[in-house]
Amino acid sequence: MNTTDSDMSLQVPGQSDPRRSSLCSDDGLLDDGPLWQDEGTFSSQGSFYLPDSGRLPTANKDDSSQLSAPVIKMGWLDKNPPQGALYYQRRWVKLDVDYLRYFDNDKDVYSKGIISTAFITNVTSVGELKFEVVTNNRTFIFRAESDAERNDWVTVLQDIRGRHRHSTINPGSPLVPDYQGYLELRGLRSKLYTVVASDKVFLYKNIDDYRIGVGITSIEMNVGNVKDTDRRSFDLTTPYRIFSFVAESEQLKEQWVDAMRNAIGEALSNSEVAERIWMEPSNSSCADCGAPKPEWAAINLCVVVCKRCAGEHRGLGPSISKVRSLKMDKKVWTEELIQVFLLLGNKRVNSFWAANVPPSEALTPSSCSEERRRFIANKYRQGKYRKYHLLYGNQKELNNALCINVQCSDVLETLSLIFCGADVNCSTGMTSNPSPLSLALAHSQPLQAELINHNLNTELPGSSESLPMEPEHYLPAPCVSHNGFLFKTASMVRAITERKVKDEFSRRWCMLNDGTFSYYESDKNSNPNGALKASDIVCLAVDPPEKHGYDYTFELYSESERLYLFGTDDPESHKEWVKSIAKSFIPATAEPLLRLGFERIGRLKCKEGLNLQTSKVGWFALVGSTLHVYLGGSQGEEIHLRKLNELSIQQDNEVLVLVEKGRTLYIEGERKLDFSGWCVAIQAAAGSGGDTLSQQQLTETDIPIIVHSCIGYITQCGLTSEGIYRKSGVNSRVAALCERFRRDARSVFLKEGEHQVDDVSNTLKRFFRELEEGLFTSQDSKTWLSIAANQDESMKISQYKVLLDKLPRVNKATLQALINHLYCVQRFSELNQMNLHNLAIVFGPTLFQTDGKDYTAGRAIEDLIEHYTLIFEVDEQQLKKQLDEIKVIIQVREKLNTKFPSTEPGGHFICTVYLEEKKQTAEQHVKIPGAMTAAELTYEVLDRRNIPVKEKEYWSCWEVCDKEEMERPLHYQERVLPILHSSGSDSNLLIKKHLAMEAMLVYLASKVDPSKHGMMKFREERSILGLGLSSGNFHDRYFILSFTSLRMYKDVRSNRPERDWPVKNLKVYLGIKKKLRPPTCWGLTVVYEIKKQEKPERQQWYLCCDTQSEMREWHATFLSIQYDGDVWCQDGFQQTRASRVLPDTRHGNVSLIPLRGSENEMRNSVATFSQDPLAIFRDVR
Ligand SMILES: [Zn+2]
Repeated sequence: MNTTDSDMSLQVPGQSDPRRSSLCSDDGLLDDGPLWQDEGTFSSQGSFYLPDSGRLPTANKDDSSQLSAPVIKMGWLDKNPPQGALYYQRRWVKLDVDYLRYFDNDKDVYSKGIISTAFITNVTSVGELKFEVVTNNRTFIFRAESDAERNDWVTVLQDIRGRHRHSTINPGSPLVPDYQGYLELRGLRSKLYTVVASDKVFLYKNIDDYRIGVGITSIEMNVGNVKDTDRRSFDLTTPYRIFSFVAESEQLKEQWVDAMRNAIGEALSNSEVAERIWMEPSNSSCADCGAPKPEWAAINLCVVVCKRCAGEHRGLGPSISKVRSLKMDKKVWTEELIQVFLLLGNKRVNSFWAANVPPSEALTPSSCSEERRRFIANKYRQGKYRKYHLLYGNQKELNNALCINVQCSDVLETLSLIFCGADVNCSTGMTSNPSPLSLALAHSQPLQAELINHNLNTELPGSSESLPMEPEHYLPAPCVSHNGFLFKTASMVRAITERKVKDEFSRRWCMLNDGTFSYYESDKNSNPNGALKASDIVCLAVDPPEKHGYDYTFELYSESERLYLFGTDDPESHKEWVKSIAKSFIPATAEPLLRLGFERIGRLKCKEGLNLQTSKVGWFALVGSTLHVYLGGSQGEEIHLRKLNELSIQQDNEVLVLVEKGRTLYIEGERKLDFSGWCVAIQAAAGSGGDTLSQQQLTETDIPIIVHSCIGYITQCGLTSEGIYRKSGVNSRVAALCERFRRDARSVFLKEGEHQVDDVSNTLKRFFRELEEGLFTSQDSKTWLSIAANQDESMKISQYKVLLDKLPRVNKATLQALINHLYCVQRFSELNQMNLHNLAIVFGPTLFQTDGKDYTAGRAIEDLIEHYTLIFEVDEQQLKKQLDEIKVIIQVREKLNTKFPSTEPGGHFICTVYLEEKKQTAEQHVKIPGAMTAAELTYEVLDRRNIPVKEKEYWSCWEVCDKEEMERPLHYQERVLPILHSSGSDSNLLIKKHLAMEAMLVYLASKVDPSKHGMMKFREERSILGLGLSSGNFHDRYFILSFTSLRMYKDVRSNRPERDWPVKNLKVYLGIKKKLRPPTCWGLTVVYEIKKQEKPERQQWYLCCDTQSEMREWHATFLSIQYDGDVWCQDGFQQTRASRVLPDTRHGNVSLIPLRGSENEMRNSVATFSQDPLAIFRDVR
């Protein structure tokens, strides 16, 4: 240990753990590998001068590829301690434009000293081989090994100094500090002045050193992780060292942690994930073949692999290997996942995966695809080379070991357990943490949780189910044989986007025989140029004629992601080939598909319904706008693509989601090439097909989406607009809107503020006016008009009814929806001035596409509106309900307008509801009408997913608040919309079973009256100086809950309550956020809202019970009082379900409007609508 270099070095007591901070002493330094793996080689002896070419690289803080400025010069120098001791110490010195740093050796990551170049005032040569670096009040003397070397250093340093001469120097230059102050670093006697600036943390001996730009070291936060450890202390963990800091107070600790986390955030947004992952040296070569700089990873297997190996990983399917790019799939790379990869690294992971690789089977970077495929399948699908866990084969022991191990930090052991058969979904036997995942989280092991999370559905190596396809699909192809000449292009790995001219094709003799399709140079050759096994064909696409140089072409897609294009000029030959090839690879179970005139046929993996765990093989054929599907052994089904509720590509282009009435189908992109072809084709087929009514994109109830959207929008935003439908919109905007609907109506979301009422109303009119064949059909419209001329009312009505029944299905549904809408419009004519007559004048000529010279057309429309209920046989009750809802909409809008007279978008009432868990595949998008209750929402969602409700299953709708770590089951009669309005963007609705409900009901049944008293631990959220910081602890208090109020007493004997709350204003949530350190896990978070005249007041406090049953009893009592004993629907839910009478949300029954937008947008816009005015929803039944 050296004591003379005391200007920089801080003395530390001996440390037992070398990874704990032992900064700056000459011993106990890091011995990990070098941080800087700069390009080129650097001799560890002499020093290297990076040619300067006359200008210095400027440090660009926005450059995302590098965190530190590039190194200008580095090398070994001897440094003289400033005190002037006679001997020198050997230091590794590194210079970039911002800092001169010196290290104990060239492997160190953290310097012993760092000097901001901005503070260097002079650099001069002194004596033999020496030079001085002068700062304001300190001089550093260095000695080089040669004169030339010394002169080099002096030149570059002077050059840099010159650059800084005219810039102003602030403390911390060149960075602006984000947060600074003294922090204790565990193990040091004195505190360090610590500065968080941008993406780095700097350590200085004291504030004076900071002011003169001379520090100890800087820490790059792109490799950092900040962990709360104790009241005042926290760890900054990097792969090279753990810095354990202690702040001066708990409150300051929070601020330090926040500041450092922000710095990490900044570092991450600046740097590539790849750079970080490669920080672990073994990650910089492929785990499978050793190729350098691998840019892909299998995130569940925890290996970093090269592109070619990644391709083979993909071939295993996502249930075995989840392949993600380090560079492109940014979203998946959470901090935890990155830490897992840094912690494990290819080397350690391979000690498991590749423990027994025979040298003859090992891959090299130049191995061919075939070898790679075999090796990777052996390694991960079969688990052939893995190191068997001692408990292998003993399921129970494996599960036990897993449960125990996830509580500690040994992630490699968890990996080993999982891939040797431990069940990640096994039961831990604990009610509080039923799964290994929850156990890991409860023990603050986020890395364990991350690993488990990515392996929840992984197929285990070697298990028989892990074959990618059921063998039946590989049955020998039926005996199809066919041969003849075809023209073929070179096979491709990318989709064909351009036209292939005849020159690009070559004539080939093709043969389909014995389940193999092969092509030859000519019919004389016996060796094929190439062959494709029928079982390797995954898709056959038939091009429209004349797409390429040869008029009739088709594409074949192979399992190994190649695309073959064949063509001919003979339509008959083309047809024969398509038929034969399809027959060769489509299994007997999906045989009916072969009879269709498909444009595309093949197999895809997909999931649906309740079984989202395992995917099935489905056989698909696309014919026009209909997708024909055979799933597993089931009967064939048809999906009408133009009628989908939703069609989207999710999860980084890997899943195509088709939502239709009653079900959702997830088609997985097992292979990229054919999948993207399917996506394009399906999306195109789901678009509108022409200008007649039935060719439009339709709703489930057969109404064109354009009509549905416009009607919905007008109902929401235009019913009070004076002269609605008579006033004209802005022509260019109307034309643009029509065009957008024509292109893809499903993607048009009308929004108030973005779209004008009159533009929308005119879009609707223009649609009907320009509709090919018209709404009343060209064949029958004259008859409709002739009836209108009739005088006898009742006669007319029955004749209209006859004609109505003659209309095609889509026309009939559309007419009903429109007349229903117009009926509603005129019911509010005192607001919009559009009475029956006015509407008829506008819509007569529009719908009958006449010139409007006589009133016959108007007369007909007048009749239809006036006798709407009779002609369309409308249920009066239903109609009344609809009108009531409209009244609510109008009232809400009035309130909005008086309160917020801005053009804020008013109502985007579609929301995302999750089923059982919050993840994308469990998402449901539901329109929430004002009157919808929690029970109705629950059953809407269950119905959609065809989930039956069994006896004693208490499905409920929960309001889940992630930020506060609390959740609340909504009362079954509670209106959903106000909840959405008042909850923040970090809340969501989740449909799941209320597991405690049975126990709660039993408890309540045993009580004479709902009341309860007893001790609970109480903590209040108090705001300090209005900053919203919480303080205080949990204290024992005595509570009495009865009829109207909850009273809190200091203890049992107290006479006067300390507090008294009206029960009906309390919202009781289950759970308390962990940050508050609740003494037990049976906590309730209580929100108290008082709606005072102007300023709503909100308090939040916490109650903690000793046992789960205590908590349930309190909760049950709260609910019972709040809902007058009606805690659960007594008649059972079937009735609620029945009474819902399939509320036809498309028409007839007006739903609040479908303007989708993002959920946050919706919430933000309605958040302004404060809590209070929503009382209105509760008043309307
Ligand atoms: Zn590789």
